[in-house]
Amino acid sequence: MSAAVNRDIRTAYLQLAFVVVFVLLGALIAAEKLVIKPIEMLADMAKRLGEGDLSARAARNRLPAEFVPLARAFNAMAAQLSQRERELIASNDRLTVMASIDMLSGLANRRGFQSRLDFEWMRAQQYGSDLALLMIDVDHFKLFNDTYGHLEGDSCLTRLGESLSGIAADTMGFAARYGGEEFCLLLPNTDVMRAAEIGEQVRAAVLRLCLPHITSSHMIVTVSIGVAATKPNESLRPGDLIEAADAALYAAKHRGRNNVVEHGVQAIETGAADMMMVASA
Ligand code: GH3
Ligand code: MG
Ligand code: MG
Repeated sequence: MSAAVNRDIRTAYLQLAFVVVFVLLGALIAAEKLVIKPIEMLADMAKRLGEGDLSARAARNRLPAEFVPLARAFNAMAAQLSQRERELIASNDRLTVMASIDMLSGLANRRGFQSRLDFEWMRAQQYGSDLALLMIDVDHFKLFNDTYGHLEGDSCLTRLGESLSGIAADTMGFAARYGGEEFCLLLPNTDVMRAAEIGEQVRAAVLRLCLPHITSSHMIVTVSIGVAATKPNESLRPGDLIEAADAALYAAKHRGRNNVVEHGVQAIETGAADMMMVASA
């Protein structure tokens, strides 16, 4: 009799233990699905956001209702962050462009010119094509400033910039303000003879502007232009083209500033033996 009672008690305990284990297991599965998984999902999203993946979003339809407001807040934060990033990239691009532009002339500045020269140099080297450069310097510009004032000098540079920009557009060239009263025009696929012709066009265009300069012997603003061209190759650097055009400009100044005298082609002796130059003075 007592053995039968003991067996019933043991069976009851066993059943109780089963029920407890079953309930605990159910609670664990429910906790995993309702609490742990959503937290893991949100933590994963926060981690991806932190690593810069701003496209990360919490899938609200896969979350229990209690987590939806949190997921919504997370998603709104991620959308705002990615909007801010887009704005930052855009303003960074604008700054990069501005950092390469000369505000007075509206042309590229020296930095913009340098990076374009490097690019065109590489391209010309790759295709074995010509690359020419015109260095353009305003004649007696110090006297211009002394006569008309710095502000008038500034607007003169602006007019010259506009004129050069038009010629650059016509000749598929790239115009820049190299610094001070010196401009340059980079001409891809252009040999030295064609570059000298374009130099002549620039000189004539400046004359046509008829900007008064009473303290210059020409009575109007004129420019001197140095022309250099080459087929870029391994043994030359972009700086050699600038040096050659500078040397040509120097010769142009010494030959009377704005006198249309063609000096023919000669090689310069600065190690850039392949560099040809023509000075129009
Ligand atoms: P050259 O014919 O030999 O080139 O004589 P130059 O007087 O033009 O050359 P110089 O180098 O003696 O003087 C250049 C002048 O350009 C001096 C400087 O005040 C002026 N200049 C440089 N940058 C600017 C600028 O942004 N605005 C104005 N108004 N003048 C400038
Ligand atoms: Mg000058
Ligand atoms: Mg100068």
